[in-house]
Amino acid sequence: MTARNHGLADLHLHLYGSINWRQFLEFVRTRSVDWASYENSFLDAYGQRPPIREVLERCYKGTPEGEGEFRRLFVFQDDDAGNFARFQAKFNMLIAGSNWAAFTQGGSSSAAVVTEVCSFMRQILASQRKENITYAEQRMTLHSRFTKAEAAELLRSMLATYAEYRDSDIQPRLAISLSRDDPWPHWEVVKEAALGPNGHLLTGIDFCYLEEGYPPKEKREFFAAVKDFNQKHPERALALLYHVGESFEDKSLESAVRWVHEAAEMGVHRLGHAIALGVNPDMYGVHTRHESVAERIDQLNYDLRHRDGLTATGVQVDSLPISKELERLGRMHPETLIKIEYDDGRLEEVRRRQRYAATCIKALGSVVEVCPTSNRRIGGISDGKHHPIRQFADFGVPFVVGSDDPGIFDTTLADEIKSAITIAGFPGDSHEELVERTWQSRSEVLTRRIG
Ligand SMILES: [Zn+2]
Repeated sequence: MTARNHGLADLHLHLYGSINWRQFLEFVRTRSVDWASYENSFLDAYGQRPPIREVLERCYKGTPEGEGEFRRLFVFQDDDAGNFARFQAKFNMLIAGSNWAAFTQGGSSSAAVVTEVCSFMRQILASQRKENITYAEQRMTLHSRFTKAEAAELLRSMLATYAEYRDSDIQPRLAISLSRDDPWPHWEVVKEAALGPNGHLLTGIDFCYLEEGYPPKEKREFFAAVKDFNQKHPERALALLYHVGESFEDKSLESAVRWVHEAAEMGVHRLGHAIALGVNPDMYGVHTRHESVAERIDQLNYDLRHRDGLTATGVQVDSLPISKELERLGRMHPETLIKIEYDDGRLEEVRRRQRYAATCIKALGSVVEVCPTSNRRIGGISDGKHHPIRQFADFGVPFVVGSDDPGIFDTTLADEIKSAITIAGFPGDSHEELVERTWQSRSEVLTRRIG
């Protein structure tokens, strides 16, 4: 019997987002916390100050409603949904209440953070085991404040913690989220850790958090360096994981689809969310968007590059008007915003572009990670009929289901899979197949570390 017959595999998880409200309540119980930064960000996002101090007092006194109130404050729920700022405001409770606050403000060394991270890793693994998760790829951000030595110590400690589970019924793996601004300094540290004694437990590199303003093309050189590393060290190859197409208010729908396609073209193994690739364009209706001249130029060049494929999918690509537009745009400032109007015809064209990009992505072998609750609450996709998973199924895009931030969403992987089956309209017995897909899409399988 192979491992995959024993339980669930979660491939899209962020460490601090996996801490649940009970674990965090227990953690802050013994701490003296300055909640000001959390309270202020919450006030900005929600228009009111969170009653954290009063709620905690009630919890500590054992008042019956205390824990329920804390849970309400901690969990990012459906009625909180709307935008990333609101999610971040809730997430900031974790930052303000933990050792990260002092560290990020320069008031303490990273030692307390390292101890805290490893303690939460064990607690999260304990909850995952209870949920029959037997394989978990956990992502953790290397904060840009970490010096190389501090980052190396954090990585060493995290991998040593996971190594404690060698004979356990859960097999944890680590993916390091690097800075979209500059991944290079910490890449050195990641390479060393990957080749180190517990490097077999470090299986991927991720890019997450704010994506707008960070075109995938800027990572071309970095991805090439990772591929070069993988060629030299196939037994320690690292999967490229990349959040893309989750947030795209700053650009056209066409460009948002293109970003996902470009990331796949650059060799990304698993694409995080990729909402733009699958969301039903009807969700947006007739509307206006804006994008920069630079983005529009990239889009037109993409159209020329993919002219044959786009044309075959029913998207008209005429070289002459495109050349003229490129000439005109070339005379404009790259950051100037261009207005784009969407009517039914243009929305239908976006759908064709999605189909084309999806077909290419399938051929390239990239896998999309779908996180239903996250898409609903952060991505703002409240109606299942618009959910990308429906078109992913229709387009034949390989996708897996993950839970993203199961602690802050107060969800489980099993519930996420159930939700995906309902949204996609899959037969009730699809659970096993979706679970099997995740096992086949583990980083160490996609990079061919293991068969
Ligand atoms: Zn994520």
